[in-house]
Amino acid sequence: MYQAFLVKYGEIGVKGKNRHLFEDALIHQIKYTLKQAEGEFLVTKEQGRIYVEAQGEFDYEETVASLKTVFGIVAFCPVVICPEEGFEQLSRDMLQYVGHAYGNRELTFKVHTRRGKKDYPMESMEISAELGGRILDAFPAMKVDVHHPQVMFEVEIRSRIFLYSEVIAGPGGMPMGTNGKAMLLLSGGIDSPVAGYMVAKRGVKIDATYFHAPPYTSERAKQKVVDLAKIVARYTGPIYLKVVNFTDIQLYIYEQCRHEELTIIMRRYMMRIAEHFAQETGSLGLVTGESIGQVASQTMQSLAATNAVCTMPVYRPLIGFDKQEIVDLSEKIGTYETSIQPFEDCCTIFVAKHPVTKPNLNIIQNSEKKLAEKIEELVKEAIDSAETIIVEP
Ligand code: ATP
Ligand code: MG
Repeated sequence: MYQAFLVKYGEIGVKGKNRHLFEDALIHQIKYTLKQAEGEFLVTKEQGRIYVEAQGEFDYEETVASLKTVFGIVAFCPVVICPEEGFEQLSRDMLQYVGHAYGNRELTFKVHTRRGKKDYPMESMEISAELGGRILDAFPAMKVDVHHPQVMFEVEIRSRIFLYSEVIAGPGGMPMGTNGKAMLLLSGGIDSPVAGYMVAKRGVKIDATYFHAPPYTSERAKQKVVDLAKIVARYTGPIYLKVVNFTDIQLYIYEQCRHEELTIIMRRYMMRIAEHFAQETGSLGLVTGESIGQVASQTMQSLAATNAVCTMPVYRPLIGFDKQEIVDLSEKIGTYETSIQPFEDCCTIFVAKHPVTKPNLNIIQNSEKKLAEKIEELVKEAIDSAETIIVEP
């Protein structure tokens, strides 16, 4: 029944030149996303509105699912397009539309008409009143409520006529790329993909870094991270994923430092390396899936010790979330099933039985002195040998 979608987007605070950037970024991302849905689409901007029009056959469910992944879309409405062939035709089209979409359901409604084409022979108010009357005649269970209608039948008259009423919620947020870029530390866990999603939702493009430790971590564990990046890329577009071989650094820390400090020192090296890539590729911040108190390496003291090596801001969008809240979000965005696949990650392999939970920064810095001989060279090697994978949805 539908041939198009009207896209509604948040406009508050987006004015002047920024508004154009916002709209152009939104259109760009809509076009990118719709490549994944079956069908050809024309995406246009007209008088502060964005329309997505199918050029022939298309898969409605797939298209709706795709539009739900585009940040910046507050809501969208499936639209029926009628040719402009006089009021009697419009009235027939409207009744057919109402019948299809709502049957003879008990509901309250109002008709609201807008004329983009001022030479149409009837006034907006007159059109609304006349169509309202005909809907009442055809669907006796429906009633008019001009103040708080359950359904608003919208009529937009231009060279063709657009009818719509259904409103589907979008993800909200800001269009991709309107707020710079950040480097996500992406592991195979539940939290970091959600953290990436949350920052991306504010219009931030995402790059990612993954640390693996072959042969202690498997090829499957790496594939799982690529799979997670693929899911996040549905929302963000292509993700440049750096895969860093962390084995030698980890083994060296394991040899030189106290085992209960291993995790915290390792996390500090992860941050340093991720920040190096972030600087190299123009990211303005780091993103992690940390949440206060979740594990030993995420107490306030541990976070302070990890944070101390970073010069860039570190964004931790999950900082105040309980695990269950993060799980709920990961189910909503579609990463949960992949995250719970049982592949070991490099943090769990050398993990001490009793890691420090309240690391003292001075002590940690002193411990790191024991790495002086080889660590710089190992870090350089890890950076130089990192693999870059461009992950598309
Ligand atoms: P997650 O579920 O995201 O793996 P977690 O609860 O397992 O988190 P940690 O292992 O302490 O917590 O990791 C904290 C954060 O550090 C992660 O959210 C992620 O951003 C980053 N991180 C941890 N391990 C890796 C890794 N192997 N590669 C890249 N980033 C990592
Ligand atoms: Mg983890």
